[in-house]
Amino acid sequence: MSTSAHPTPSQSARNLWIQQPLACFTANQQDAGNGIVISGDRIIELVATGSQPQSDIHHTFDAREHVLLPGLVNTHHHFYQTLTRACPPALNKKLFPWLQTLYPIWARLTPEAHASATELAMVELMLSGCTTAADHHYLFPHGMEYAIDQQAEVALKLGMRATFTRGSMTLSQKDGGLPPESVVQTGQQIIDDSERLIKRWHQQDDQQLVEIALAPCSPFSVTPEIMKASADLAQRYQVGLHTHLAETEDENDFCLKMFGLRPLDYLESVGWLNDRTWLAHGIHFNDAEIQRLGQAGTGICHCPSSNMVLASGICRVNELRAAGSPVGLGVDGSASNDHSNLMQEIRQALLIQRLRYEADEFTHRDALSLATTGSAKLLGRGNIGELALGNKADLALFKLDEPRFSGAHDPLAALVLCGASRADAVMINGQWTVKDKQWLGGDINELMARHQQAAKTLYRAG
Ligand SMILES: [Zn+2]
Repeated sequence: MSTSAHPTPSQSARNLWIQQPLACFTANQQDAGNGIVISGDRIIELVATGSQPQSDIHHTFDAREHVLLPGLVNTHHHFYQTLTRACPPALNKKLFPWLQTLYPIWARLTPEAHASATELAMVELMLSGCTTAADHHYLFPHGMEYAIDQQAEVALKLGMRATFTRGSMTLSQKDGGLPPESVVQTGQQIIDDSERLIKRWHQQDDQQLVEIALAPCSPFSVTPEIMKASADLAQRYQVGLHTHLAETEDENDFCLKMFGLRPLDYLESVGWLNDRTWLAHGIHFNDAEIQRLGQAGTGICHCPSSNMVLASGICRVNELRAAGSPVGLGVDGSASNDHSNLMQEIRQALLIQRLRYEADEFTHRDALSLATTGSAKLLGRGNIGELALGNKADLALFKLDEPRFSGAHDPLAALVLCGASRADAVMINGQWTVKDKQWLGGDINELMARHQQAAKTLYRAG
């Protein structure tokens, strides 16, 4: 008999049937009405309505009271901002004054506070059914040089998939930018560290949890040289490019004044208009710009709550999708949303898009597809975001067991319309991370206490 600690092939291939869900959204045309079969970290079978699994089954998860979704994918966030939710001096402001109010507080960020913010935000997302998160961190005050390494370590500890986008800023107030000088870096520091992070973390773990992308905070917070160098580096290492664009009309004016170009023209001039790029917000594009984005395959991350809170406008999701741009969903940073609940964000997307389109032109399925297939496309991850053969076993299961669902008839529509917010069970890479609505990876009360203390210290330090 073997004494090896490693599982034998038959043990590692134990098959789990997520059996007979109340409803199932595969995010594609396939039928998994009777559930899916998981082996290890993969989906090995979709069981059609009325069918039985063809695979051997060793375990079952009774899903008769659950709505089964692919794990949700969040494509824009700033985890550190969970430390400044509902922050008094920043309340009721539009984007630029909001940023200028918060930058001096954020400039005091410490590694300890950032670690607890990253963990809290990722767990908060996970409890809402999110299994893959992208974060955009662009603050590197003294002492925070290893902020992204710290985040990658948290993701591996939690067993959660994440794309960490290495943000950057070179232009401070003295150069006509918005942030204080203490949070910006030199071009050389940014490029050297971007390359170091790609080599250290991008696709380096065997579960495909952590990826890196390059992400100047906005095209107006770095020099054109950094925009171009980031695009070259992304091309060389085959990683994604991310930034904020076309969030407000102020930004159009700012860009015209600074570069004599509209934001998209400037983006193209620095080599970013391609399918490696996804842009947060993407609201204030004209018709011709939408066609150019679509032809280039450039993605847009729709952030409905943040856009509503900052009174920024409404993303033209249907025109972008029709033109060929993939559109995903993001909760955005917690100083402008102020929650990190991706399931609630799906509902927000439905509601705000209904203000732009006819009721039948943007359905609950369209809203769900943003946070699944749309978001996965933005991150360039081909094996998540839908329930399909061979895809990673990343799942979210919701129960309709709260008063808000009582009397609902269509279970899938009920998730969006009645406002589901907390998953009953979440699986990432074949491992349960949430069961019975509880995070299995640690003590949520200890994490909240640590995070709350860090938030108080950061705010009061001024
Ligand atoms: Zn943002």
